[in-house]
Amino acid sequence: MVFILKPNVPKDKIDTFISGWEQKGFSTIFSVGTEHTAVCLIGNTAEVDLDQVVNTNDIVDYGKRITEQYKAVNRTVHEDDTIIKVGDVSIGEGFFTVIAGPCSVESDEQILEIARSVRKSGAKILRGGAFKPRTSPYAFQGKQTEGLDMLRQAKKETGLPVISEIMNQTQIDLFDDIDILQIGARNMQNFDLLKEVGKSKKPVLLKRGLANTIEELLMSAEYIVSAGNNQVILCERGIRTFETMTRNTLDISAVVLLKQKTHLPVIVDPSHAAGARSLVPPLSKAALAAGADGLMIEAHNNPAKALCDGAQSLDLGQFSSLMEELKKRAVLENKII
Ligand code: PEP
Ligand code: MN
Repeated sequence: MVFILKPNVPKDKIDTFISGWEQKGFSTIFSVGTEHTAVCLIGNTAEVDLDQVVNTNDIVDYGKRITEQYKAVNRTVHEDDTIIKVGDVSIGEGFFTVIAGPCSVESDEQILEIARSVRKSGAKILRGGAFKPRTSPYAFQGKQTEGLDMLRQAKKETGLPVISEIMNQTQIDLFDDIDILQIGARNMQNFDLLKEVGKSKKPVLLKRGLANTIEELLMSAEYIVSAGNNQVILCERGIRTFETMTRNTLDISAVVLLKQKTHLPVIVDPSHAAGARSLVPPLSKAALAAGADGLMIEAHNNPAKALCDGAQSLDLGQFSSLMEELKKRAVLENKII
């Protein structure tokens, strides 16, 4: 249940209203937006008489029952878009932020060459996996802590903020100086990990699970936000369907729905969705047209020799050409790229 307060209510009256609910055993979410201020109750509100609350509290304008289980990430509770800042970079409404880099960090030279090139092309954040969740235990598992060091070095040399995947909650201390924590598709419902990154002060990029619904993605985001970290970026990266010509099926309508249901930024990873580089440029343009707040694209200096996901990686020239096309289209969408 959410109560929308009247404009310009004094803070002490709001505090009294909130503590009254907390004494009755509810938790609350207090949200200040440009149009309205809201107090959302978390708990069993079946017995709460909505009209009576509105009629007996002069600070309340109106109330609404929220049928969805997600509250803190719900746009009904928090109407304004959340914009996430990573250094000078913004992710969220009004911006189209491109994250690019290799699937895996492979060497100092590799990550540095890619970082310099994608920065020049207009990427604002550098990606690079150090801990890799591979289907086969015999496949390259990533450069691990050494890979994180290479990423930090590339950040130092180029000034680009960096993102890398954290695979479990024991790794959190290793991610010092890594700007964004990525939760991979396979970990979307690793609830202990979600709670742990919820305690962190860093932005979290939460990827949709291979076979998870939009609602489940929102519930996973709710875990992070309700644990105290509201800097969550959602990522649609394709879901499993009966189709075999693509690695996954990019669910473009998920972008539209997520933008309606939540205030969190939504980006698209066309690389893992497609599994093939020829599909990446058109899917990237589709994401921009559908209202995504950005992209995460795999780009490599030598895709044929990549240790992971070469077939879906753009080479640096292809990435640069794609960025030129996106820059033209971003103007039409009124977005800063
Ligand atoms: C990745 O981005 O490196 C990755 C492993 O993607 P996903 O979790 O979406 O499969
Ligand atoms: Mn990959």
